[in-house]
Parts: sequence; structure tokens; C-alpha cells
Amino acid sequence: MVVILGLEGTAWNLGAALVTEDRVIHEVESSYKPLHGGIHPREAAQHHASELKRVVSQLIEGAREREPGLSIGDIDGVAFSQGPGMGPCLRTVATAARALALTLKVPLIGVNHCIAHIEIGRWRCGTEDPVVLYVSGANSQVLTYHTGRYRILGETLDIGIGNALDKFARYIGLEHPGGPKVEELASRGTRFIHLPYVVKGMDFSFSGLTTAAKDALAGNPLEDVCYSFQETAFAMLTEVTERAMAYCGKEEMLLAGGVGANRRLQQMLRTMCTDRDARFFVPESKYLRDNGAMIAYLGMLQFRSGQTLRIEDSAVMPNFRPDEVEVKWR
Ligand code: AMP
Ligand code: MG
Repeated sequence: MVVILGLEGTAWNLGAALVTEDRVIHEVESSYKPLHGGIHPREAAQHHASELKRVVSQLIEGAREREPGLSIGDIDGVAFSQGPGMGPCLRTVATAARALALTLKVPLIGVNHCIAHIEIGRWRCGTEDPVVLYVSGANSQVLTYHTGRYRILGETLDIGIGNALDKFARYIGLEHPGGPKVEELASRGTRFIHLPYVVKGMDFSFSGLTTAAKDALAGNPLEDVCYSFQETAFAMLTEVTERAMAYCGKEEMLLAGGVGANRRLQQMLRTMCTDRDARFFVPESKYLRDNGAMIAYLGMLQFRSGQTLRIEDSAVMPNFRPDEVEVKWR
């Protein structure tokens, strides 16, 4: 049995988990909530720094309670999010991961945060070879595995869909994160307002849509603007995901990332998949958003395929792209 400790802390959520081949042994998290405005990278990093000791201690204690035979000496490796993410947050968590790996005398494993979202979804849902729609705060990408790498088939040209929803929500005075609140308002919308639908080739863009939605607030009910924002943005994402599936001839689709919790987005994707006789997969929402288990799980896959890091090569990569990673575990 291989046991990996994983640390996530690229943005708002500090998560730690212990994972083995067939289960998540235990997981603990602590999220940063901005007092006002959006995520402030340095404040988020300070939150992670002040919570790390407690979160890791609770993880170890909780794991011992759940599995009395387990000891800290059973940990085979320490995995952390090497990127992409906010520099100060990444550096804080990487420092903790290096210290833990050195203390426990086990290998350090640097993982790509986007691929971790994909792999935990594949694991939890049992989908073998899906086209993936990964939609989170900062990232929005359509990917699939092909000849040794996750290839990015389409992606946002500016901001992630989560950031677009959060920015719009902030403008109307809602607290961060705004996505769930926009969803709630949208469910009460009735009239569709035309907003910019921007798909260029296989890429999409959300900043013009966000600006237009703000402008549409003059003269339209808030619920209708939220509804139209969601319908427009999610249709763009569904269109590109469908084209990717047709192009690659793949019959499974996996949803990943925090925005994946949105029921309207899930419904559109499910309809699209049903219409083309494909299967739609979505993990439970704690494994959609940022979490420690996904980092530990991908860490385990990389550990078993020998993809560990020397401390001197473990610098964080705020712009780390998933297609930079050679996939040796598939
Ligand atoms: P992640 O970075 O993967 O943890 O995702 C965080 C993003 O997901 C934030 O931008 C949230 O606003 C967004 N989000 C969470 N729940 C929902 C929801 N139900 N609908 C839309 N966006 C959501
Ligand atoms: Mg994420």
C-alpha cells in the first residue's frame, strides 16, 4: 500500500489529504474568505501559512483515529500543487511540502493542479478516456489525453468563467465567491437578454460578456441578467466541449473544477451528451472544487511512475500548463 500526503493551496482553499490506492484515508481543509473584494494573493498566502500547522496536525490525528494501525512513518511521499496558481500561495504551500518531505525523508512530488482535477474525477467516476471540461475560478479549458499528454483543445482567451461570475457578482454587491449566488438568482430569471457569445475556433472569452452583463443591469431585472449570463457562457462551453468530442471521437465527458457544481451547466452538458449517445460524468462537489485529495491522488500516480522531484527542482510555476506534463501513469 502506497500512502501519499497531498497539499493544495493554489488560491482560496488550503487542503491536506492522505490517500492510498483505493481510498481517501482522511482530508482536512481551511478556506480563505476575503473580507471584501476578491481573493487577495498575499492575504490568501498568509491565511494558508497560519493554518498549515493545524490542518496537517488534524490530518495526521484524524487519520490515526480512522485507521489505528497507521503511523506517520507509513507516508511514502509528499505531493503539492506546483502550479498554476497565485505565486504567494504556491510558495507558502511548497515551502511546507519541502519541509515535510525532508523531515519524513520521503520523495517530494510536484503536481499540476489542472491535471489533479482531471485525475480525481476519472478516479471517482470511473471514466476511462473522457473529454474534460475544466472550469474553475482562474482556469477554463477543454482537454483530452492523447499520446502521452493532456492536450488543451480549447481554452479561455482572457479570464476563467469562475472569475467572470465572481467579478459580476462583486459588481452587484455579492460576497465572494459569487458563482453560487448568481446561480440562485439565475434560477428565478425568465427573460433571455442577448449578450455577447464569443467562441473563436475552439477558444472562448468571458470578459466582454461580463462587461455587457454589467451594462444590461440598467433597465433589466437582476434575475434576468444572471439567467442570460449563465445561458450564454454555458452554451459557449457546451458548444466547444461537443466539438471536441466529435473531433476526437470520444464518447465520455468529464466535468471538473468548482464551477462544475452549477446545476444549469451540468444540465446543458448532460443534454448534449445524451443527444450524441455519450456518457456524462461529474464527481461529488467536494472533488470538483480545489481539494487536497486530488493533489494526493495525482501524487500517488506520479510516485508509482517515478515522477518525483529533487528539492532543487521544486520551484513553483504560477503559469504551469497541463500540456507541459509528460503523463507516464496512463
Ligand atoms: P475552484 O477554483 O475549482 O475551487 O472553483 C472556484 C470557482 O467556482 C469560484 O469562481 C466560484 O464562484 C465557482 N463556483 C462554485 N460554485 C459554483 C456554482 N454553483 N455556480 C457557478 N460557479 C460556482
Ligand atoms: Mg482549481
